[in-house]
Amino acid sequence: MAELAGSAKSGKVVIRNIGLLLSGDIDRPQFDADTVVAHDGLIVAVGREADCDIGAPDVLIDARRTCLCPGLIDSHVHPVFGDWTPRQNQLGWIDSTMNGGVTTMISAGEVHLPGRPKDIVGLKALAITAQRAFDNFRPGGVKVLAGAPVIEKGMTEQDFKDLADAGVTLLGEIGLGSVKAGEEAARMVGWARKHGIQSTIHTGGPSIPGSGLIDKDVVLEADADIIGHINGGHTSLPEAHVCELCERSTRAIEIVHNGNERTAIAAARAALQLKCPHRVILGTDGPAGSGVQPLGILRMIALLSSLGGIPAELVFCFATGNTARLRRLNCGLIEVGRAADFVFLDRAQHTAGRTLLESVQLGDIPGVGMVVIDGIVRCGRSRNTPPATEVPVVVKGVH
Ligand SMILES: [Zn+2]
Repeated sequence: MAELAGSAKSGKVVIRNIGLLLSGDIDRPQFDADTVVAHDGLIVAVGREADCDIGAPDVLIDARRTCLCPGLIDSHVHPVFGDWTPRQNQLGWIDSTMNGGVTTMISAGEVHLPGRPKDIVGLKALAITAQRAFDNFRPGGVKVLAGAPVIEKGMTEQDFKDLADAGVTLLGEIGLGSVKAGEEAARMVGWARKHGIQSTIHTGGPSIPGSGLIDKDVVLEADADIIGHINGGHTSLPEAHVCELCERSTRAIEIVHNGNERTAIAAARAALQLKCPHRVILGTDGPAGSGVQPLGILRMIALLSSLGGIPAELVFCFATGNTARLRRLNCGLIEVGRAADFVFLDRAQHTAGRTLLESVQLGDIPGVGMVVIDGIVRCGRSRNTPPATEVPVVVKGVH
């Protein structure tokens, strides 16, 4: 189940008979193609079968007219080490989330580590260790981008340079440490940005005893790259303040499962009204007080599409291509050169929706029929989603 990163070469993978292709691209969320070809983990062709070189595959997958979508990206998780979370004492949560269609997770800080160091050298050491550990070990094949230090008072530009030089590319949620003032946060965000480290800020009331409030003025002044859980994690800012953030900031609007659902819808709709749907990205914020959410991203997609009234094909882009572009990841889009990370979906058995997209717009979670990461089949029919009506079949290949 778990494995070393990059340990397997997947060879030539041909996926044919795709019924619906969701691209991840918010400007063109679906297009007319029934075939995808990958080589050693990267997409090399997308199109009609007659136009693709499908000869001599190592692995041939018959999609059986189901939907192929880029693997889902969870923009906001709190991993610790391996496939264990001490927050709710659960094993196997990442593999379980892969069964919910997630192929990439992004750490917003390894904050649940028991005894987490808060001194500067200690927090740097933890970030570097977490980055290395998840780079070397991928539960369920999931790409966990970890090593996200929680910044503390007293850090200098040299600390950010040291982190960047060591391979750290993310900051944990600003506000979970002692840096809570806008001006101080802005200075450190600037240092991080200068050294190529992407930043996220906690938004809203305290998550758990010990964390604090980050209000709209601090979010605006800090100007982090990602407005982390704009709908609160869990306690939301007033809806008007959230809409003001969407309007006055140009940064990514991150909406999470472990937040206020009413505000989630308001934020997504505000982004659409402001004609910036490309800024919306989705996360779970799990594991958290609300637990592990293996279907959290699919649940967010169903929530925003059904109660938010947003076309399902657009909402899938919030969880795929938007996140990939804003976070500069080589996944999340079905296009040549991108990672062969896919989730196969179909309408759940006995949904009232006649098609996959209609079922999501009615609020049902789709069934996952297969997950592929780096061209390698990681699971067939999901053990967690409602059963998909139809599932893909591996016609040729050892899986
Ligand atoms: Zn938070």
